[in-house]
Amino acid sequence: MDLVFATGNLNKLREAQEIITNHKILSLKDINCLEDIPETGNTIKDNAIEKAWYLWEKYKVNCFSDDTGLEVEALGGEPGVYSARYAGEGKNSEDNMKKLLKNLEGIENRKARFFTVVALVLEGKVYCSEGIVNGVITKEKHGKNGFGYDPVFLPEGFSRTMAEISSEEKNKISHRGAALRKMGQFLLQFQ
Ligand code: IMP
Repeated sequence: MDLVFATGNLNKLREAQEIITNHKILSLKDINCLEDIPETGNTIKDNAIEKAWYLWEKYKVNCFSDDTGLEVEALGGEPGVYSARYAGEGKNSEDNMKKLLKNLEGIENRKARFFTVVALVLEGKVYCSEGIVNGVITKEKHGKNGFGYDPVFLPEGFSRTMAEISSEEKNKISHRGAALRKMGQFLLQFQ
């Protein structure tokens, strides 16, 4: 079936297309959705559902969305649901990473995790799946691949950050990869 991924992030679109190969994954552009999709929830799950539900209500398409938070243990789980605007509205990933590294200066406990919820809407019914990857926040940025906080996130058991590994390697271990694979398993019944 055709499924629209409610994201404007081309990295995420490519990741999803690499993982879900038995259904056609369309972009927002493909359905002429050019507006910003609202994201006003207080939790990752609420945001994921809100974005997919928006597309279902407005465009009546089967679709899915994801929402991710970086949860840092020593910061009490921050930036969490505020990961995208950690350094403030209108700031970018560079600013977010800068703020994160500053807030962790001198702190030995660097444990963190990415937490993702994928919300799938099929004919008006919502199904959610989750994915987590544990790791630590490095002291400096390393690598140019990926996006967001990838250059400062060292996944557990790795000696390279998420921005130093290939997208295939990232998909195998990542939070979104795990949540999307669960969604893919669920979708097998709709072949
Ligand atoms: P959102 O889920 O796209 O709203 O992402 C929330 C924040 O987490 C943004 O700052 C993203 O750049 C960041 N983020 C989401 N997924 C990833 C990832 O796979 N790696 C690194 N950062 C990510």
